[in-house]
Amino acid sequence: MGDAGPPAELDAAVGAIALVDHHVHPALAAELSRGEFEELITESDRPVPPGTTRFDSQLGVAVRRWCGPVLGLPASAPAPAYLDRRRELGAAEVARRLLRAAGLAHLLIDTGYLRDGMLGLAAMAEAAGSGVAEVVRLESVAEQAIVAGDGSAAGFAERFRAALWERTTSACGVKSIAAYRFGLDLDPRPPAAAEVAGAAGGWRRQIDAAGPAGPIRVTDPVLLRLLLWAGVDRGLPVQIHTGFGDPDVDLRRSDPLLLRGFCELTQERAVPLMLLHCYPYHRQAGYLAHAYPHVYLDVGLAINHVGARAAAVVAESLELAPFGKVLFSSDAWGPPELHYLGALLWRRATAGVLGSWVESGDWAVADAIRVAEMIGARNARRVYRLP
Ligand SMILES: [Zn+2]
Repeated sequence: MGDAGPPAELDAAVGAIALVDHHVHPALAAELSRGEFEELITESDRPVPPGTTRFDSQLGVAVRRWCGPVLGLPASAPAPAYLDRRRELGAAEVARRLLRAAGLAHLLIDTGYLRDGMLGLAAMAEAAGSGVAEVVRLESVAEQAIVAGDGSAAGFAERFRAALWERTTSACGVKSIAAYRFGLDLDPRPPAAAEVAGAAGGWRRQIDAAGPAGPIRVTDPVLLRLLLWAGVDRGLPVQIHTGFGDPDVDLRRSDPLLLRGFCELTQERAVPLMLLHCYPYHRQAGYLAHAYPHVYLDVGLAINHVGARAAAVVAESLELAPFGKVLFSSDAWGPPELHYLGALLWRRATAGVLGSWVESGDWAVADAIRVAEMIGARNARRVYRLP
């Protein structure tokens, strides 16, 4: 970016985009202690060393710098003042202010992982002043279907498919967290019926052995393949977690390039594969989006966590990936600060990166504005068939 910053026209146009956040979770409207708040501004679920704080991170600095003013504080007020102001306003008002300030037209909400105090779909629409649509998690539907079998795994595959079709009548997409449950190094082919029956029986026995309080988590790679292929059969865009996430994910096994075989085998089905997050493999994801007509990507989640470095990640996401294949997402989960920052940091990064290309003479300002609007909203409207 030159000294003058991005052209004012581009800055204004990017600021005015009514964004479609194509992968986001509900916001929490609950009072949070300092400890609880700090646990929610990191992807780590482990404690920090004594004498350090989560506020000393790119995301922590961004919360104080950018969210403070939305709550009526000076920019970069100290963390204790920020948390006091949060309490003073109340969690519902904090959520309303931050969600409104994000400038969102539509939220595509993953409802697969919830906690107490989270807003429901209608409350999210109300607080954000936006449209909402649901994305259904394949693993959640499978976990309900195995339990619905009256203690038997017989007919699991059929029960799962019926439940998936019923659960998604008004959904705009489905989502796979196979990266969390096994890794993306799966056999890309659809599993045979006999393999599925064997794997479902094994899962059922595990559930029985764990007892009524035990976890019900689908982790068998055969079943995860069944879920992914059922998602393709359902015909809605299939979101797939790749790259960065909490330590439950083995980052080495979440490289989207591991999905190359699946991309090959699903291409003729023409069902969009939406690679989520991708960082630090967003260049690999960009290659897949370049190579395969049905592959798309976002760099959500990372943008919040890299904060002032968001422009670097956004720039790298715009190398090989065709611009019609890149989508905006916040991947916010919990504090509405994450919903706001996802939008704000994306706008700053996008205006900065595209603006630098205008200033260097590589791009026309009209192209920069058009591409920003595609990534911010139009691509998602087309792929998810939003009104
Ligand atoms: Zn997510």
